[in-house]
Parts: sequence; C-alpha cells; structure tokens
Amino acid sequence: MTQTKNLIDEEGKRTDGRTIDDLREIKITVGVIRNADGSAFIEFGRNKIIAAVYGPREVHPKHMALPDRCVLKCRYHMSPFSTDTRKNPAPSRREVEISKVMRESLEPALILEDYPRATIDVFVEVLQADGGSRCAGIVAASVALADAGINMRDIVSACAAGKVDDRIVLDVNDTEDKEGSADMPVAYMPHLDQVTLLQLDGILTRDQFNESLDKAIMGCKKVYEIQKQALMQKYFGNETELKEEQ
Ligand code: ADP
Repeated sequence: MTQTKNLIDEEGKRTDGRTIDDLREIKITVGVIRNADGSAFIEFGRNKIIAAVYGPREVHPKHMALPDRCVLKCRYHMSPFSTDTRKNPAPSRREVEISKVMRESLEPALILEDYPRATIDVFVEVLQADGGSRCAGIVAASVALADAGINMRDIVSACAAGKVDDRIVLDVNDTEDKEGSADMPVAYMPHLDQVTLLQLDGILTRDQFNESLDKAIMGCKKVYEIQKQALMQKYFGNETELKEEQ
C-alpha cells in the first residue's frame, strides 16, 4: 500500500468530512430475520450488512460434532451487487480468509462448552461494501449471537485504524483503505479487555503501530456502546431511552 494522493485537507478533514478521530455513523437494528434464531442489520458508514445466527442445532455431517463443545461456523459473503463492479458470487479467497478470521474473533466470546455436539452457524451477508466490512460484519454477528441467546463472556466489538497522509486515523473508509498506506482491523472484547483480531495491511513504525492499536481499541469501545444500545432497544424498547433521560 503506497499512498499517492492527499487524503486529509489543510483543515484536517478526511475524504468524507470526518476528523482523524471520528467514527462513521453506525446504526444497528436487532432481530431483522424472522427465520433466524438471532439477527442484526448494521449500517456502518455506507456498509450495509446482515448477520444471521442459527443454532445451537444438530451438526451435519454428524462426524463433525465435538463431544465437549459446540462447533462454530462462519460464512462471510459479499453480494454480487455490493461493490461498484459486479462481484463474482462464488466465494473468493478473500471471503474464505475473512470467514476464518471472523470465526476466530468471535469464538473467545462464546461459551461453546455449554453446547456439546451442537453447531452454531453465523452468516454474514454484505449488501453494500464501503471498506471495513469485516469489522462491521463482526460487530453485527456479535449482536446477532447475543440476540440468539447464546451464552457469551462478552460482546465482540470491531473497528479499524489506519495510516493516511502519514497520520493515524480511526475507522478507515473505502477510499482510505484503497489509497491510504495502512489498514489495521481490530476486534476487541471491551469487558474482558482482550483483542481477538489484529490484522495489518501496510507498513507502520513501532510507534505508529501502538498509536493505531490504541486508536482502534478506542473505536471498539465506542462501537460497543452502540451494540449494547441496539440490544437494549430490542428487548426493553423505549424504556431504555426513558431510563437514560431520568
Ligand atoms: P474490508 O472490507 O474488511 O476492509 P478489504 O480491505 O479486503 O476488507 O476490502 C476493502 C474494500 O474493498 C471492501 O470493503 C470493498 O468495498 C472493496 N472490495 C473488496 N473486494 C472487492 C471485490 N471483489 N470487488 C470490488 N470491491 C471489493
């Protein structure tokens, strides 16, 4: 990733008008798929993603079952209409990789030992992609797992940081992802203070790496509040707003 264009103007504004510490607007709706045990729809900037959770349910084929814990399966998929050019609907290497890292980032939050010989399926469908879709997908999947009533140690939150014009910025958008010089997606469990995903595309110095990680964790903590609020909204409705106002 070598940057060629200026992506931050003299006033410190980024391509979408944000400052370096701003998150994009995030909206989460819980319980959008009736047939699923748990689901969530997230708008993370211009990303639009649905996560649906099925299970715990019987494993197929049966020999894949584990005697002491549940098998977690994740599928991340981008719809053919989710990008500006038509995306081949067949799973790409990138989607296979993201499905794997998504599973690994969610697994530490789940108490899988509570469901031996069963499976939980997590489907993440990207309807519109705008950079940072793996983070947005993890955020939605985590909320959908909570909505499904799966026993959890914490909610997994996710947010990327990156390097643009030699500055560390929060929540990299599509242009910054493609034209910036580094992108670092992070998933984090705020309550347990544990990082469950850390990837880096680009080159950072040690100081930039630390700044980027701190910034991504700060972003995750903000996203966590939105996740909690979305879940409370579904289960307690307007009562939540009333309590906050009091
Ligand atoms: P993430 O979405 O997690 O940031 P990447 O860094 O791999 O993952 O991708 C960045 C962005 O590039 C995506 O959000 C999407 O907007 C775009 N993109 C990814 N794959 C494709 C594709 N096959 N065709 C067109 N655009 C794509």
